[in-house]
Amino acid sequence: MSDESQELGITESKSHKPGEWYAEVVQKAGLADYAPMGGFIVTKPRGYALWEQIQDALDGWFKETGVDNVYFPMFIPESFLEREKDIVEGFDPEVAWVTQGGHDELEERLAVRPTSESIIAPFMADWTRSHRDLPLRLNQWCSVVRWEATETKPFFRTKEFMWQEGHTAHATNEEAWEEVWTRLGQYERVYEDVLAIPVLRGKKPEHDKFPGADTTTTVEALMPDGKSVQGGTSHHLGQSFAEAFDITYVDEDEEERTAYTTSWGLSWRALGALVMTHSDDQGLVLPPTIAPTQVVIVPIWQEDTKEDVLEYSESIADDLEAAGFRVELDDRDERNPGFKFNEHELNGVPLRLEIGPYEVDDAEVTLVHRPDNEESVEDREEIVDTVDDHLETIYEKLYDTAAENLESNIREADSPEEIMGTIGKHGGYVKVPWCGDPACEEAIKEKVSAEIVMQPLEDQGGTTAGAPKAPDDEDATCAVCGEPADQLAYFAKSY
Ligand SMILES: [Zn+2]
Repeated sequence: MSDESQELGITESKSHKPGEWYAEVVQKAGLADYAPMGGFIVTKPRGYALWEQIQDALDGWFKETGVDNVYFPMFIPESFLEREKDIVEGFDPEVAWVTQGGHDELEERLAVRPTSESIIAPFMADWTRSHRDLPLRLNQWCSVVRWEATETKPFFRTKEFMWQEGHTAHATNEEAWEEVWTRLGQYERVYEDVLAIPVLRGKKPEHDKFPGADTTTTVEALMPDGKSVQGGTSHHLGQSFAEAFDITYVDEDEEERTAYTTSWGLSWRALGALVMTHSDDQGLVLPPTIAPTQVVIVPIWQEDTKEDVLEYSESIADDLEAAGFRVELDDRDERNPGFKFNEHELNGVPLRLEIGPYEVDDAEVTLVHRPDNEESVEDREEIVDTVDDHLETIYEKLYDTAAENLESNIREADSPEEIMGTIGKHGGYVKVPWCGDPACEEAIKEKVSAEIVMQPLEDQGGTTAGAPKAPDDEDATCAVCGEPADQLAYFAKSY
């Protein structure tokens, strides 16, 4: 191995030092770098390309379901922020303020948006006159700033992060619930179909919901290190924002009514979950559904075979490209095949096609799967169908591994000691009957920094709020305090 190829390699181990390993993969696979100011990162081309894949998928689904994109200012006047008291209290410790413009002190300081309800809602009020203006569905792709003083972890913990935030207004509570479930379903679909990560759906406990929300619903993904990631949240805001910002409409019967609103967001934390879930000690592993390059063709030649090998490789690249695959033919002269293998492995290209003189002579292709190095030799003739099959198999391998991790890491407990012991030993989710008292969660949180990340619901769709699922046993008692328990809760450590 040359010095250069050692430079490429990942030196930390995922199982022993997941934090260091994660930081190394993100940097060496060219996803992101640290900015000069603590808490900020620079998203590099390969990282941004992944974010664009998520954007493309979600944005398409949003538009198919009646959402229009808009853009609002990144600054919010303090007086606007103060109109909804829960938002002020909820975000106060994390808001960054602008107090000066040029050389002049501002008359009213401006908040850098931590979320945009307070600047969007007044305009929604303006644009909503009659029932015919509803539903109103707006979305913006932007970044927000939350000044947390914690250690930077690219895509998981940064002061500024990219996301989309949807904001909608509806005539009825039922329509607002339908909206909440539609968006949560789309988040679930991004995780499962694009990122190959299974998720759990449910709601946040009352004391942990979005400031001002009626209900916060969530999709949660379990990482291989046993911690849960809040993958995306969809909030039913009831009428609190509509009341604070006068989002009212004249109904068919000429009566003035207050609308119901929702908001929903998914951030680039999804990229963090993607890297953490599938990648390994060789570097990034990407499902073909999101990989900017799905297939790399590496020709292997000597001087006397170069022309034939390249011509054959090009014809395969052309066929695959014409069929719509994202293909790269790596015909760089100055790099040997071994170097190329390592580099594409590090960058997570799901499928590698190796083509040398033997493949040319036998009209075959050698295919290697990134996740497990499984190698097979197939006929050149059916290459488009063959590649399609192999990419599907690679997606399934990744999804199945993540699904197994999830299934085998949901455990039950019926005492505080058992909850803490299980989380300490295995991580993952601990599913318990809960009385609903936040004090019972606090007792666990203080000792092992695990909290209730999700409560499964009876119904998670349609036009109604799902009630929290009840324990199977009617006489179940709270795993923490022993009082009667009418709901289930999932404890976990989380990112
Ligand atoms: Zn209790």
